[in-house]
Amino acid sequence: MSGPAEAALELRKDLVRHLRAGHPWVFRKALERAPRGLPAGAVVDVVEQGRFVARGYYDPHSAISVRILTRDAAEAVDAAFWRRRVARAAALREELVAGTDAFRLVHGESDGLPGVVVDRYGRTAVLKLYSAGLTPHRGAIVEAVRGAAPGLAGVYGRDEIPHDEEDEASAPQGRVLWGEEPPDRIAIVEHGMKLLVDVRRGQKTGLFLDQRENRRLVRELARGRAEALNCFSYTGGFSVAAALGGARHVVSVDVDREAIALARENFQQNGLDPADHAFATDDAFELLARYRQQGRRFDLVVCDPPAFAKSQRAVEGALAGYASLNRAALAVLAPGGLLVTASCSARVSAEQFFDAVKEAAFKSRVELQLVEERRQPPDHPVSPQFREGRYLKCLVYRRVA
Ligand code: SAH
Repeated sequence: MSGPAEAALELRKDLVRHLRAGHPWVFRKALERAPRGLPAGAVVDVVEQGRFVARGYYDPHSAISVRILTRDAAEAVDAAFWRRRVARAAALREELVAGTDAFRLVHGESDGLPGVVVDRYGRTAVLKLYSAGLTPHRGAIVEAVRGAAPGLAGVYGRDEIPHDEEDEASAPQGRVLWGEEPPDRIAIVEHGMKLLVDVRRGQKTGLFLDQRENRRLVRELARGRAEALNCFSYTGGFSVAAALGGARHVVSVDVDREAIALARENFQQNGLDPADHAFATDDAFELLARYRQQGRRFDLVVCDPPAFAKSQRAVEGALAGYASLNRAALAVLAPGGLLVTASCSARVSAEQFFDAVKEAAFKSRVELQLVEERRQPPDHPVSPQFREGRYLKCLVYRRVA
């Protein structure tokens, strides 16, 4: 795909402002006329009364019709374009990411590459495309990743593209896009902690890299805290961190059976005997309720649930969900204990999340002190024009009494 735009799409009056301000999305309803027969991935110019505003790629299946790639009318979307953008993303990581061989190489919109995510695990890069409009460009993106990430043995693809419901067979499957098959489990090292990653069957691309610095923080905070509980543990990143940091007994709970199996292996990888700890394939809410009834108390509780609000309409429910989850967590937190609580819902602001925990504390009659407030690491940068990208909140509270 290269050369000039394949179509010009007229914007509805007054909808150009946010685009001029740098936001990368054009919703279907912002277009004057829905284009007919334009294929996914077509490079289009978005225009206002015929005048160029921005250039992007078209997606006929998504509520976001166009994702913007450039505001420069002279910039073509060709192989060199993808190379420049991926190289720019790689430069940030070279400068600012240290202490790990697993990091996010491309973070979508905030790296000027809407819908494109690339996570690097040692010698394997995992590419995730979030729009059908990217599939015609996949080859060029893979080439660009190879060029910008020396030492790769392979690029593995795990698209996240909604497909036709009638066409179940076309459900996107993971596959090698270039080079070698990835090993069954890739061993990565994050701030001295070893973690096994299953890029084929794991969630997202295999690991939640955005919590890396918070896992490191938990390792530091765990000293002298004997009993730890990690709710929504996935493959046990926070659990291993707590155990390495000094927690004598760590409970990991997640509904994902394979993730819990990998969590055990991750303990072994770090010279920790899983038999000294507990692993539960269970619903975290139910486990918390049981522990509460049993009167069990923990000196450290980590709560990192999946996004509660997947749409704007779901925000209110999500806030109530955060309040009740944190209330359940506080019910098992010993006085003097620490609560590490996170939210990855982009639509829930830091203030709203803070207030949800405030409500949980108030209703539980528990006195808390906020001792740390964290966001996302530099390999998950945020473009100021794209506030949706500023999604991760991680708060650390100490229970006073
Ligand atoms: N903290 C983890 C990432 C957690 S992602 C890390 O550092 O790697 C959220 C996890 O919540 C997923 O693993 C998902 O399987 C799990 N999950 C979703 N709903 C759950 C529930 N009701 N009870 C327990 N786990 C749940």
